[in-house]
Amino acid sequence: MTASDAVTDQNAAAVPFRTEVRQLLNILAHSLYSDREIFLRELISNASDALHRVQFEMVTNTDVVDADAELEIRVSVDEEAKTITISDTGIGMSRQDMIDHLGTIAQSSARALVERLESGQRSSIIGQFGVGFYSAFVVADEVTVISRSHRPDEPAALWRSTGDETFTVAAAEREQRGTTVILKLKEEAHEFATPWRVRQIIRRHSNFVAFPVFVGDERANEQQALWRQAPRKVEASQYEEFYRQLTFDFEAPLLTVHLSTDAPVDLHALMFVPAKRERGVVERRIEGKIKLYSRKVLIQEEAKDLLPSHFRFIEGVVDSEDLQLNVSREMVQSGSVLPRIKKSLASKLQREIADLAEKDPERYLKLWEEFGVFFKEGIATDAGVRDELLPLLRFASSASGDALISLAEYVARLQPDQQDIYYVLAGDLESARNSPHLDALRERQLEVLFLVDIIDGYMLNGLREFDGHKLVNIDDPNLQLPGEAAAREVLVDDQRFVTLVNAVKAALGERIAGVRASETLRSSPVRLVAGEQGAGREMDRIQRMLDRDYQVSPRVLEINRGHALIERLTTLLEHDAAAPLAVALIEQLYESALLLEGLHPNPATMIGRIQSLMEAAAGVTPRA
Ligand code: ADP
Repeated sequence: MTASDAVTDQNAAAVPFRTEVRQLLNILAHSLYSDREIFLRELISNASDALHRVQFEMVTNTDVVDADAELEIRVSVDEEAKTITISDTGIGMSRQDMIDHLGTIAQSSARALVERLESGQRSSIIGQFGVGFYSAFVVADEVTVISRSHRPDEPAALWRSTGDETFTVAAAEREQRGTTVILKLKEEAHEFATPWRVRQIIRRHSNFVAFPVFVGDERANEQQALWRQAPRKVEASQYEEFYRQLTFDFEAPLLTVHLSTDAPVDLHALMFVPAKRERGVVERRIEGKIKLYSRKVLIQEEAKDLLPSHFRFIEGVVDSEDLQLNVSREMVQSGSVLPRIKKSLASKLQREIADLAEKDPERYLKLWEEFGVFFKEGIATDAGVRDELLPLLRFASSASGDALISLAEYVARLQPDQQDIYYVLAGDLESARNSPHLDALRERQLEVLFLVDIIDGYMLNGLREFDGHKLVNIDDPNLQLPGEAAAREVLVDDQRFVTLVNAVKAALGERIAGVRASETLRSSPVRLVAGEQGAGREMDRIQRMLDRDYQVSPRVLEINRGHALIERLTTLLEHDAAAPLAVALIEQLYESALLLEGLHPNPATMIGRIQSLMEAAAGVTPRA
């Protein structure tokens, strides 16, 4: 059977493509990109999927057409007719399967790609990202698919399209189970009708496909299960090559973890930490990028539950002979082997990552920057993994400059009489460095961790202590600090302070939970400290992110009676308790403090007031 076979079928029908397919075809036809050769990778990958699926069917279901057929992929070219043909003995498609699967975009990622491309980002991103079957139309002006399903009662069927509005389906002749895809190459793609070129592409993009790929009679791929080899026998370049073909990632992985044992369970795993959380223009969901094999059969393409949630950014392959393959893929989970496999994988990853942190801190920092958030989430949500994850944490601090430190490093340089680990929560590093809470600690040379990630407040739910040292938020108004502080100057005495407190309360009302004199402030005029209901305050930043209208719990405003600005403000109020300048100062002091806490809902609203304060400072007379 060839592409030009006449279709004689009274049921032949022209079916319109779904809208998103038309969009994709249109884009593919018009995008000029350098790596159009990836069409072959996509079609071979579909063939390999189909082979995996029929293999699975044969394990679980006895009634499969052609049960003895060799599981293989064959690619051939016709140099005269300028066609390329990809054939597999996979699961096959019925006529209805063709309509369902080749008329719509199955992959949600391909749909995301269409959306991105539609919004104008037409770079060469197709190479980074599988667009599947339709990539055939980048090189072909006609694509024919002839297939026979593995299901015994289904007749063979043919699908054909020139990549415009519609495709045709019809009956076809085919004895053997599987699928043949025939591409009539476009003029400018004739180069693909040469065997050496085809072999080159297969080696470059499909070398590790799990089934033999033949070009003519010659095997074109290596098809070795790299993960089953002894780690010391595998070269770094082989790992990288494998990773690239597994993930289509352009960047080398940050870490490669290879586990190969046969006791206590048979387990072979090749796992990678990708260089980036999100890749290229099209974001990928980071979750369950692990392929699970048992006895050479792919049982799960995206095994979601193999690794603890805080390792869900890992990509790779896991293979075990000991997994029982049962009737349904779900049942794989119920055996007793799986928990042991999970445990081995998690602890191997844990060890290797901790090892990296110790031996190659620079590289570890890259990992931390991309994926540290998953470890923080793990600490917040899973007490069982908390202790393992704590050594992986890294923070900026008041004494670390631009570097990040671990909790152990912090503890190693505690002051002689210091017991607790101090931290401050802020919206960003600069706010943390300028936090008024630091005044009292700075003068005692106590180091403070800067918790500036939005998730940090949440992480604290599971991080109350490290190595016997309590973690203490320095916005606590009753904070007891070790060491002596120098005596504080008082410029506003008790009696004058009452005037100030009354004016602050009148101006800020419900927004604050109270006003009091500070025992700790030095260079800062005011700060906001935890009020009575201080318990939930560490979650305020996250709540605010989830809900813009969320009202943060009111704080207590602490005032530095030794600050010259506070003294001037009091004098102004003594002349006129409602002086507009004094009220503006109070408002601005409060909002600046809110901003430093990372809690200001909309800092731009301060601009008008700041301008009038500048005018006052410059001596501009307010207009009546
Ligand atoms: P994806 O493979 O990501 O699902 P594709 O657009 O490449 O998306 O393919 C769509 C669907 O068509 C596949 O999911 C599969 O059901 C079917 N298909 C494609 N190629 C083959 C093949 N060689 N054998 C069997 N089914 C196939």
